[in-house]
Amino acid sequence: MSKEQLLKLRKDIEIYQKEYYTLDSPSISDYEYDNLFKKLQELEEKYPELYDENSPSQRVGGKVLDYFEKVTHKEPMLSLEDVFSIEELKSWANKLVKNYGNLQFCVEHKIDGLAISLRYENGILKYGITRGDGSVGENVTNNVKTIKSIPLKIDFKEDFEIRGEVYMPKNIFNEINQKRQLDGLELLANPRNAASGTMRQLDSSVVFERKLDVYLYNVLNSDKNSHYDSLLSARDLGFKINPYTKLFDDIDVMCEYVKELNALRDSFNYEIDGLVIKVNDYSLQEEIGYTSRVPKWAVAYKFPAEEVETVVEDIFITVGRSGKCTPNAKLKTVKLAGTNVSYATLHNEDMIKNKDVRINDVVVVRKAGDIIPEVVRVNFEKRPSNSIVYEFPKKCPNCNGLVERMAEEAHHFCNNINCSAKIIESISHYASRDALNIEGLGFSTVTKLYNENILKSIADIYRLENKKEEILNLERSGEKSFNNLINSINNSKNSSLDKFIFGLGIRQVGEKTSKILASKFKNLENLFNVQMEELLQIDDIGKISSKIIYDFFQNFENRVLINELLSLGVNPINQEIEIENSIFNEKIVVVTGTLENYSRKEIEDYLVKLGAKVSGSVSKKTDYLLCGKDSGSKLEKAKSLGVKIINEAEFIKILAEKW
Ligand code: NAD
Repeated sequence: MSKEQLLKLRKDIEIYQKEYYTLDSPSISDYEYDNLFKKLQELEEKYPELYDENSPSQRVGGKVLDYFEKVTHKEPMLSLEDVFSIEELKSWANKLVKNYGNLQFCVEHKIDGLAISLRYENGILKYGITRGDGSVGENVTNNVKTIKSIPLKIDFKEDFEIRGEVYMPKNIFNEINQKRQLDGLELLANPRNAASGTMRQLDSSVVFERKLDVYLYNVLNSDKNSHYDSLLSARDLGFKINPYTKLFDDIDVMCEYVKELNALRDSFNYEIDGLVIKVNDYSLQEEIGYTSRVPKWAVAYKFPAEEVETVVEDIFITVGRSGKCTPNAKLKTVKLAGTNVSYATLHNEDMIKNKDVRINDVVVVRKAGDIIPEVVRVNFEKRPSNSIVYEFPKKCPNCNGLVERMAEEAHHFCNNINCSAKIIESISHYASRDALNIEGLGFSTVTKLYNENILKSIADIYRLENKKEEILNLERSGEKSFNNLINSINNSKNSSLDKFIFGLGIRQVGEKTSKILASKFKNLENLFNVQMEELLQIDDIGKISSKIIYDFFQNFENRVLINELLSLGVNPINQEIEIENSIFNEKIVVVTGTLENYSRKEIEDYLVKLGAKVSGSVSKKTDYLLCGKDSGSKLEKAKSLGVKIINEAEFIKILAEKW
């Protein structure tokens, strides 16, 4: 590998880190990422002259999202050095024993979730903070409070901080995905990203529904002498400590336990991607020390990814709502990581070519935390004489429309706007819970209505009221469920702008981006007129997504559809409703400090639209102080007068909840 390759690797890893930490949407498996990261570390060791403190190998975590208040950690929240085999683990432990004498090690589950720090003041939970970039995290206290196993009060009056991992239990993850599948929504990639994405939702009620849980594993500034004793006392205070946490004096016995837990990993109701091994004694931890990224007194032992061999019986394409054609391998059913696996994704044409996967090949399949298994490699030694090279189809297997590969994209798309797979997927998505939430219009009902020519487009949803007879005959369902469906359809007419944008199913525009677009552009007219430059200026929207969004709103058919929906009574930004429901209606609001998403004029105009009276100075009559960065005397005065103070993130959250 050359120096150029090192620089390229840094760039690639930066992209993967952003996808994983900031967007909660990784495009490669952890196994592949770990290999690339290790390669980068090796190259940086080989070329020390290329040291760069901004290299992804020197950094912890990702970017802090702007929606949340930023909180500086009292002590940095670090990452962990990985070891990938028992031999590496032994050699790390033996080296420490050699340098520091006999040591006790604590072995713990490495739960694959999201690190969280809980700060208590006077026995009351004051802050829940994400790891963020290690130094500064996001204030997600409201979301943390929805986790039932986190005590809101503890019997300990001094300042107390404890850290742990928030995770999504596997059964909840599976339930959510089953539901999303029925609703025709994209599946959550894995429990880790699901937990991280959920914890960083603006709407705490969503977090509540997703039933996250937590295990705590690190007490800050403990008055005990060792890590393990601190965990025991934290347990007495009511914190959930993982029962598999265990102390060892002997490295060989410890390694046996590591193997034992590896064999059990699928039996827990949470994902673990390895184990963490820590030196137990606090004073020795201090002596052993830290690098800027990791403590030197702990390592993460990463479990080997589970792999099995099986046969590719066929390769077939599925068409998503954007028309994306994804190739999949139909496999001879095989048991993998505790489940029966019959399909694996092949991602795209390049992957099939690069790995040279053919029908009838014997392949290695892996499930490394991700829900959809993937084909890792072909076992060429076992390639049969009847292996068949797969030709990516030029026509959509569903509608026979032209299939094309877009420039700069790895994927093929069906070009036919009337492709039934696309339409059924789009209608189901529009009606799904996270979008317009139309009850009674799930994927199977949409398919049925589509096949019967009753529902041929999103706009037709609002014409179903006139098709009562046909629907009652078809569904063999009663008048009551028909009325419920129509009620739900009518309710959807006044949904929030962000849900409407999400419902349009624009490629690469998920719930988060929809919220950003709604809050930034305020109405559909502004989105119709949006310029590329404006989109490019938004931090969390990349170049490709900007282009996709721009093209979407410029596209003639899309404009016709949106206008058709508006003419059918859909009104995602009904001003009257905004004012009526707005908690700012008739209230005196003062704005102070610098806001991140609005200029002073924009926010004042917006508040006026929400029915508020905007004032320049704080007095007893002031109802709200909306407070940005670097707020000065107005904030102090508001505090002294007991005026309700909200920050920008809370303001956006109130808006998101209201509509
Ligand atoms: P890490 O794997 O280096 O480990 C540190 C984290 O482990 C802590 O922050 C904490 O959240 C967690 N943890 C769980 N149980 C713990 C315990 N008992 N004690 C202490 N910590 C515990 O985590 P990282 O720095 O967030 O990320 C690196 C890993 O993330 C990589 O190894 C990779 O698997 C994954 N990743 C994947 C991609 C991708 O594109 N697929 C990108 C970036 C990172």
